[in-house]
Amino acid sequence: MLVVASQLARFLDDLPDDPVEEERELTSTHVDLDALAYSVIGESSAESPEGLDAVREAAEQPAVARLVSKILLDGLREGADGIHLQPRADGLLFALRLHGELRTRWVFDKRVALRVTAHVRMLAQLDPLCRDQAEEGLFVVRLGARRCAVRLSSLPNAFGESLVLSFRERGGSIDLEALGFLEPDAKAIGRLMMHPFGYVFVVGPADSARDGTLAGMLDRVRDRGLHVVAIEARGLPPSAGVNQIPVEPGTDMDYADALGHVLQHDPDVILVGNSSRPATAILGLQAALMGKLVLTAGVGSTAVEAIAWLMDAGTPTYVLAPALLGVVAQRRVPAICDSCRRQIPTSRLLEQQLEAAGVQIRGPFFEAKGCKTCGESGRKGQVMLYELLLSDARLRGAIHRGASREELQRVAIAGGMKPRCQHALHLAQQGVVSASTLEQELALWLAVGVPTS
Ligand SMILES: [Zn+2]
Repeated sequence: MLVVASQLARFLDDLPDDPVEEERELTSTHVDLDALAYSVIGESSAESPEGLDAVREAAEQPAVARLVSKILLDGLREGADGIHLQPRADGLLFALRLHGELRTRWVFDKRVALRVTAHVRMLAQLDPLCRDQAEEGLFVVRLGARRCAVRLSSLPNAFGESLVLSFRERGGSIDLEALGFLEPDAKAIGRLMMHPFGYVFVVGPADSARDGTLAGMLDRVRDRGLHVVAIEARGLPPSAGVNQIPVEPGTDMDYADALGHVLQHDPDVILVGNSSRPATAILGLQAALMGKLVLTAGVGSTAVEAIAWLMDAGTPTYVLAPALLGVVAQRRVPAICDSCRRQIPTSRLLEQQLEAAGVQIRGPFFEAKGCKTCGESGRKGQVMLYELLLSDARLRGAIHRGASREELQRVAIAGGMKPRCQHALHLAQQGVVSASTLEQELALWLAVGVPTS
């Protein structure tokens, strides 16, 4: 459905009236029809200083605020992982990422697009008109009792600016088992949290809910009379019992800078929201050796890849080996709909993959075709797949030697790590994830070239 500027008023009137309560001027009560009728601003008008003011004004119109409210509300209500606003040749595409799948809702014409983009940027306290660089921002949305931080990431593309809004809910479950950890692993993580010092690294793609895992870990150290400091992006609502230090990613007060200052405040536990830059990761590892328990998120497709990244980033092995306590490598994948789930014969590809991975099991596995319950998608929510690597003397020795990825992998498995594809196999047999998800996990695993046992 294409939404054009001249029809925006009617489009909004046809929508159910359901405003989102938001902390920063998002609430809007009515649509100013006249304002919409006149507000025709071409992209070229943004070139002149008067044009800039006009764009700012247009972005603040109640109708635009209401439309953005509707976009956010749809995302929250439907349990989307994120909202995508992608400029194309014919306008701005609005899509929700639901159960891992991108689903297009509407396309806005260019004039609506300009205002929507500017309004979203203003909510995140970014300049509404700056479109030539990648930026990040944050704001908080309230929907009834729910409080949800919305992270905005902007990236210029060929037709304008691509925006991704991802939700990060506060007050949700921080129970590790509820997040998807198996009971023995949740207990093992709990034991890691009892260590007086060390480095715990949670890695995975941006949408893998690493924040949730870190919050679950933080919950295990709360109320123990420890000084807990969390270095997190500005705008996130504070967590109880935590001394929260807000930072602006990419500025002088970045994670690494803040970490340097925080160490002067004698914390016992430090959560570093993002250690995807080597400088932050290395400083965090050094802090761990100084007697701090450091919990952080970063890059890496597998636990061993994360260790290899830390080594490749220039961390001295004499720092990494003694500091590292453990790594969680997680991914979120679609759960299949249990209303239309059915058992399927194991494909030749999957048989070959299982054989190559040294797995004896050949099924049963499941797929879901789609039904009314799941909106014909065959999917119902998402589940976490993970592997948990706990450091031991052999792993420390391998890191000291600067071992290869393959050797690290063998040592990790010998030390008890169950690779993530085993977790996928477990969930595929139970009919929680599909046979195709298992195929993907096995393909990732086999690319590393090490058997599962
Ligand atoms: Zn279904």
